[in-house]
Amino acid sequence: MRPWEANIRRVAPYVPGEQPKGEKLVKLNTNENPYPPAPGVQQALDQMDCDLFRKYPDPAATVLIKALSKAYQVDEDRIFVGVGSDDVIAVAFMTFFNSSKPLLFPDVSYSFYKVWADLFRIPYETPALDEEFRIRKEDYYRENGGIIFPNPNAPTGLLMSLSQVEDIIAHNQESVVIVDEAYIDFGGESAISLTEKYENLLVVQTFSKSRSMAGMRIGCAFGHPDLISRLNDVKYSFNSYTMNIPSLILGAKALEDGRYFKETLEKIINTREYAKKRLGELGFSFPDSMANFIFASHKDRKAEEIYKALRENNIFVRYFKLPRIDNHLRISIGTDEEMEKLYGFLKEYL
Ligand code: PMP
Repeated sequence: MRPWEANIRRVAPYVPGEQPKGEKLVKLNTNENPYPPAPGVQQALDQMDCDLFRKYPDPAATVLIKALSKAYQVDEDRIFVGVGSDDVIAVAFMTFFNSSKPLLFPDVSYSFYKVWADLFRIPYETPALDEEFRIRKEDYYRENGGIIFPNPNAPTGLLMSLSQVEDIIAHNQESVVIVDEAYIDFGGESAISLTEKYENLLVVQTFSKSRSMAGMRIGCAFGHPDLISRLNDVKYSFNSYTMNIPSLILGAKALEDGRYFKETLEKIINTREYAKKRLGELGFSFPDSMANFIFASHKDRKAEEIYKALRENNIFVRYFKLPRIDNHLRISIGTDEEMEKLYGFLKEYL
């Protein structure tokens, strides 16, 4: 090892899903929304004046915070925004998980949690999901330095009821609890309402899935003003101008069209429910997903084999070679047309 290497921070990075290029491929591997953002977003983009870019963006992200405040009926001082929910969660890890007691998150969950915990040197423990991949809330009734879990969980898609979520928070009022609601709009009830009751609760959401704006990188968090103010202290100590001007303007625009949002969600939910039927007929089993993906394993064929065969045929799904889940495929919900291509190929292949 060269001497300067001894001081380097070494981490095993998070591996994002592939972004393959090409016209004809069916991309069901990163839980993107198959429909475009609300029409008003395109209009606002077309009208955008590049002269705006000469100046730094508003570090307080006021237009976006105001739009979120209006859309979610939450006071502005209870909202934080960042460059995708990955950025919001990373800042939250840095801000709130600063204890020698372990951070708790499920063993099968968003694989980035472990990476941030390692990066920020946060001790952690990962209570195991039960046999059916459900979170056992009792596992979180013990001393900890913080808690984070997605609801619905990823990659399982399983939703916890709001009362179960509340049980976990109620038992843990001495540490910060983060509920990662990246997929909540696809069928769950948000815990945002609980942030009025529990000042240690932070609810994180994203524009990447239900609002079709993964490429703009917009995430947000809701919580007590003291939590939000601590997040801002860390943000301003790291990078004041996280959100660029187009993201601020277009994110705010996306929130104006509630009708389009609902219609798009409805289409994805219908496609998901139909996918459960079709995949079931093809010999797959899966937890009952309330997200925009299905976490499926086949009764006879190995997930890795199916993944490779799909890939060779330009159909991309996500495969995780990880303990407990290496015989599952995470299949994002695409358009009906894309899903038909998937069923068609699987029918022949299987
Ligand atoms: N949380 C969960 C559970 C996710 O699956 C994702 C998507 N990879 C994220 C957070 C981050 O999404 P984004 O940064 O695009 O908001």
